[in-house]
Amino acid sequence: MKKILYVASECVPFIKTGGLADVVGTLPKTFSKEEADVRVILPNYSCMKPEWKEKLEDLTYFSMDLSWRNQYVGIKTLEYEGITFYFIDNEFYFTGAAPYTSMEGDIEKFCYFSKAALAILPVIGFRPDIIHCHDWQSGLVPVYLKTLFAGNPFFDGIKTVFTIHNLQFQGMTGLERLKDLSGLPSYVFTADKLECYGGANMLKGGLVYADEITTVSDTYAEEIQMPYYGEKLDGLLRARNNHLTGIVNGIDYDIYNPMTDPYLEYNYSAEDGPDLKVINKKALQRRVGLPENADIFTIGVISRLTDQKGFDLIDYVMDDICQEDVQFVLLGSGDPRYEDMFRYYANKYPNNVSANICYDDRLSKMIYAGCDAILMPSRFEPCGLCQLMALRYGTVPIVRETGGLKDTVASYNEEEQSGTGFSFTNYNAHDMLHVIEYAKDVYYEDKEAWKGIVRRGMEEDFSWTRSASVYMELYDSMLEE
Ligand code: ADP
Repeated sequence: MKKILYVASECVPFIKTGGLADVVGTLPKTFSKEEADVRVILPNYSCMKPEWKEKLEDLTYFSMDLSWRNQYVGIKTLEYEGITFYFIDNEFYFTGAAPYTSMEGDIEKFCYFSKAALAILPVIGFRPDIIHCHDWQSGLVPVYLKTLFAGNPFFDGIKTVFTIHNLQFQGMTGLERLKDLSGLPSYVFTADKLECYGGANMLKGGLVYADEITTVSDTYAEEIQMPYYGEKLDGLLRARNNHLTGIVNGIDYDIYNPMTDPYLEYNYSAEDGPDLKVINKKALQRRVGLPENADIFTIGVISRLTDQKGFDLIDYVMDDICQEDVQFVLLGSGDPRYEDMFRYYANKYPNNVSANICYDDRLSKMIYAGCDAILMPSRFEPCGLCQLMALRYGTVPIVRETGGLKDTVASYNEEEQSGTGFSFTNYNAHDMLHVIEYAKDVYYEDKEAWKGIVRRGMEEDFSWTRSASVYMELYDSMLEE
């Protein structure tokens, strides 16, 4: 049986700031128990909810050298849904109101975490065949493994996979600072390894030293080899493209299930959804303060409010979008510029726009269930979970063809009556407006065609099962070498 170790900075249900947590929390339990023993190492953040913290069991502790420092490493553990989790405990590093605090502090925190994740393995007696690391926070794991831990027979032959969930976040700091904090040998701080445009880059460490690199969709795997999407690492990714694959994310079909979701006014399936979703539309309109109207074309946006997500396009044509026959429901928070922008439009069009500037799980489910369409005009999108949730709830995605959006939404084809959504290619506001108008036309003028799009979307399968088997094939191929 294969032994696989996940090392990550977040994981549902313990701690979540983004999609990474969903992946790390769901994928391990999807593999069959006969096939693999998958365990997960996480930081023991003090900001974790008390209901989880009190369940953790103390295993042991020891001290670890980290450069010239000597640091406490506590190990706590919990078995949850058949998976063993280890939590690395150190109050100096993991105290704070959120998992990530400042970039300065986070660099030191995750140097410690990456080294400790390896150092605890002989102590807990778990020697993985493969260590699967995620994003820059665990980027140094493959680097430590092949430098400071090389030569120790316990670690001999362990393979590593590094998954890029978002290339934009890289863990950059000064060269001398990272040398000091990590205790890594000087020879790793050269341009072909951790050095990057005069500084040191922890994500680059993972990309250089991991045996295999994956990212969360085929299209994003291609895109990041080009300067526009490559975040200055496209050259390195081109050089490593024999070891770079895209594996699209899934969503948890038990949690995101319109047939059982307790937050919905009316639970529905692919059979009755296209006709009866309107019950949820009215519940949503009541909840967000828009006029109740079962017939009006309702567009939702659920997102972090950042430049990545294409809000400048929306701003450019929002007056055109906000016609009498459209309602627009936003749920999101982030960049104050976009928060203000949506407040402004909600004020200007009180009967058509509702701006909900907050993070609200329940409302997000009500939007997935109650809207007709979900808009995602992203500048780039490694995978995107929103459109997968929308498809599951029979809400038609209108997306820009980038990254995972391109791979998971099939554009509506009138001739063939095929497709699950609407899409446009160029990052251009009028191209986006044009497909919104087109979707609206189909919605109002060809009800049967619209219901077909909804039904096909609901019948797609973006559960984790398929992606998990692709990851397993990758692990198998690495162990055959
Ligand atoms: P990213 O990981 O770039 O933020 P994704 O589309 O991959 O974007 O994942 C976003 C996830 O976060 C989705 O599950 C979405 O429903 C959820 N989400 C985003 N903003 C909010 C919000 N304000 N309230 C509730 N859920 C949100």
